[in-house]
This record gives sequence, structure tokens and C-alpha cells, in this order.
Amino acid sequence: MKIIESARDMRGESELLRRAGLSLGFVPTLGGLHAGHRALLDRARSECERVSASIYLNPTQFDSPADLATYPASMDADLSLCESAGVDIVWLGRRADLFPDGFQTWVEVERLTRPLCGAFRPGHFRGVTTIVAELLAIAKPHRAYFGLKDFQQALAIERMVRDLWLDTEVVKVPTVREPDGLALSSRNARLAPEERAVAPALYRSLVRTRELLLGGEHRVDALEAFLRRAIEEEPRFRVEYAEVVRAADLEPFSTGTVDIDAGVLIAVAAHLGSARLIDNVWLPPARGGDF
Ligand code: AMP
Repeated sequence: MKIIESARDMRGESELLRRAGLSLGFVPTLGGLHAGHRALLDRARSECERVSASIYLNPTQFDSPADLATYPASMDADLSLCESAGVDIVWLGRRADLFPDGFQTWVEVERLTRPLCGAFRPGHFRGVTTIVAELLAIAKPHRAYFGLKDFQQALAIERMVRDLWLDTEVVKVPTVREPDGLALSSRNARLAPEERAVAPALYRSLVRTRELLLGGEHRVDALEAFLRRAIEEEPRFRVEYAEVVRAADLEPFSTGTVDIDAGVLIAVAAHLGSARLIDNVWLPPARGGDF
């Protein structure tokens, strides 16, 4: 496994591999790797001849300095996870390359990043799409892998790639969960044992709401109220948002009634102790499409 630090070297390496006719898969991460990241790496490994991963704690996507300062980092463990996943190249991004003095170009996906997390984390998605645009320009992968735990992020990146004609296919990978349902997240490390014990209630609430929907309750207000109440049955949660929107574009259902055929996303963000957790479940559009 090669470890690369400079953007110039990373680009050089990718260009060589491309010229050799090899297919390149790429998994961008913030570090603090876990089995969710591992699923992305495994998928890339199964579909591409060479796999690279980036580890870069991108400061521009953090809207809270405290979140950035306490983000779980574990370089040695991250490198061993990459090694055991058969990663060919790990790229440790550097600020001097990615946000040098004088940097002033930002990529913003407009409508998709307004609702849900976008309404509560100013600047977050702008930071994400800008760094991902840079990473793709440097690593030049044929395919890049993103997790559906961050559903809105995956859609925004997919839109950006399409709008800017970036030469990479975006592959979306299902959420990996603990056996009790909690979605894996680097931020789970912040949960105290008693918080960790109640955390799976978030996913259970989403599943119960999906059951209510599939049982015939199509009123958005009723579903959202049910979801919020289900989460708040565990009083340690402070719900940030609990919403039922169209899966394809994250817009509200204009009639106030869910159109299941259009695809449905049920998404939440909630604080539990010092951790902010997000999770979602979704139903794909009836006519398929790119889900
Ligand atoms: P992060 O390091 O948090 O930026 O995550 C890097 C990538 O891993 C993103 O595409 C995430 O959506 C994805 N990811 C994080 N957690 C999970 C999970 N539990 N299941 C699947 N993908 C995940």
C-alpha cells in the first residue's frame, strides 16, 4: 500500500494508472475509519482494478469549531483498516495543497443543499462539494464511492458531478449499521455508555415511521409528528429535524401527502449528549431511476 501526501504525487500516480488502462476507484474520508468506510472500500475493491482512499479532515465543512477540534482521529488504525481492505493508495491530504493561501473558488449545489442538514449547518455542504470537486480533480477516479447514511451529501455530489461534467461515476452505498441498528459513524465515539445504549432508538423510530407509511398513513404532517414523538420517547434526544421529503430532490411533497411512487426519504438529525447523529430510511421511486 502506497502512502502519498502531496496532491501533485497523487495526480501523477492516477495518471500513470489511467494510462496503463486500469480502472480507478476512490473513497474520500475524514478519517476515524469504521465498518461503514470499509463497506465503501470493499465495494470499490470489487468493482475497480486499483483503489485509493483519501484521509483528510477537511476544516471547511465543519460549521462548529468544537466539532472539528474533537473529531475522532486515529491514523494508525485508519492505515491498518485500509491495508486490510486491500487499498492500493492512501492519500493523506494537506491543507497547503487543498486550501492554500489565496484560495477563493467554491462549488455550491443550490437547491439540494438547502433543506435538512443544510438548514442547520451553514456552509457545511459548500465545504463538502468544494473539497470533493478538488479531490476528484486530483485523484481522477473512474468511480467514487459515497455512503447513503449521508443521503443529502451523496445527492449533492451526484448533482455536482453531473452539472460540472466531472468524469467520475458516483456510486452510492447502503448504510452500515451496528447489530442493534445504530448507523456507524465516527461521531458515535462521543457517546457515553448510557447514551450509546439508547442511540438505536433513532433508527427504530425511522423504521416505525416507514411502517406507518407503508400501512397507509400518507399525510406528511402526521408522519413527521409520529417520527418526532417516537424519537422523543427517549428524552435524552434533542431532535433537530425529522422530515419526510421526496427522495429524488429532497423537496417537500407539495400536496402535503406522500406520493410513494415518487420515492420517499425519511430523515432525522438529533443531538444525543455531545454527539449529533443523523440517519434515514428511504423508498426508491416506483419507476426505479438511479437509486
Ligand atoms: P466521512 O469520513 O464521515 O466523511 O465518511 C466518508 C464516507 O463514508 C462518506 O461517503 C460517508 O457517507 C460514508 N459513511 C460514513 N458512515 C457510513 C455508514 N455507516 N455506512 C455507509 N457509509 C458510511
